[in-house]
Amino acid sequence: AKKAGRNTTKFYQHKMDEWISRRMAIENGLRDAVKNQELELHYQPIIDFATSKVIGAEALLRWNTPKFNDVYPDEFIPIAEESGLILEIGKWVLQTALKQFVAWQKEFTGVIELQKIAVNISAHQFENSNFLHDVDSIIKKTNIKPSCLELELVESALVENLKTVSTRMQKLRDLGVSISIDDFGTGYSSLSYLKKLPFTTLKIDKSFVMDIQNDVDDKELISAILMIAQTFNFEVVAEGVETQEQYLFLKEKKCTYLQGYYCSKPLPNEQFIQFLRKNSVR
Ligand code: C2E
Ligand code: CA
Ligand code: CA
Ligand code: CA
Repeated sequence: AKKAGRNTTKFYQHKMDEWISRRMAIENGLRDAVKNQELELHYQPIIDFATSKVIGAEALLRWNTPKFNDVYPDEFIPIAEESGLILEIGKWVLQTALKQFVAWQKEFTGVIELQKIAVNISAHQFENSNFLHDVDSIIKKTNIKPSCLELELVESALVENLKTVSTRMQKLRDLGVSISIDDFGTGYSSLSYLKKLPFTTLKIDKSFVMDIQNDVDDKELISAILMIAQTFNFEVVAEGVETQEQYLFLKEKKCTYLQGYYCSKPLPNEQFIQFLRKNSVR
């Protein structure tokens, strides 16, 4: 038994070492990712339920590195956050997404009315003292209409101090940008947040959308969220919509926007432009 115990310990020690070295390798790789031009944004179309038209996209980060075969944001973003590298990476994301969006708007003027580019912002960025200035200067540099920019903040980033968060948000809103609460329903924020924080949009987490078929409670929850949203005048984006059943349910409940594989996966820029071409009525 003692020997088996020792082997198990060894096994876990080995797993632990593996995990630590992968984590360190990712951190090291990320350090040069911007400089080596290994980062890429994919864009997932956002569709207006009422008109079925594409109105914009969410930018989602991809890392093309020769060092790892598959490394996805769910793994490397937390490492970028803990190491502080997210500040440089996040700036690149914001710059790239806005530049791209303005280019699409130009190409599709009079054909598609593109109103929204949604960009994920980590808590670390949101709390950084330079963030407001960075957003402001990137808006000016790219010449984007500020209301077209939607900053997505995860609910879990907003739980620190209501007053601080609210003030910080308001300063961003004063620049004219929109703010959404991402993964809504998964954090700990109470309903009173909805009244006190100056955001514009709720994004219903995909875990709720996915259970629409099976779970009566999730249906009720989504209905309730949509009713509250109407009361407070928020837009609501449903993420992770994959099936027609989910689509029909959300449409009937007057959800504002749809995002999900039902319509399209996140696409590299060239393919996103193809998507826009296909969806143009000339
Ligand atoms: P998120 O912001 O909640 O993004 C939605 C995720 O759901 C994306 O995963 C997207 O590809 C995926 N998704 C979209 N539609 C569907 C669907 O119909 N079904 C399913 N199963 N999944 C769908 P992705 O691209 O792997 O990103 C994961 C997370 O990484 C994001 O979750 C976000 O929290 C973070 N992330 C991605 N890009 C950035 C970034 O530029 N900055 C920051 N700070 N975080 C980012
Ligand atoms: Ca998001
Ligand atoms: Ca989300
Ligand atoms: Ca998520």
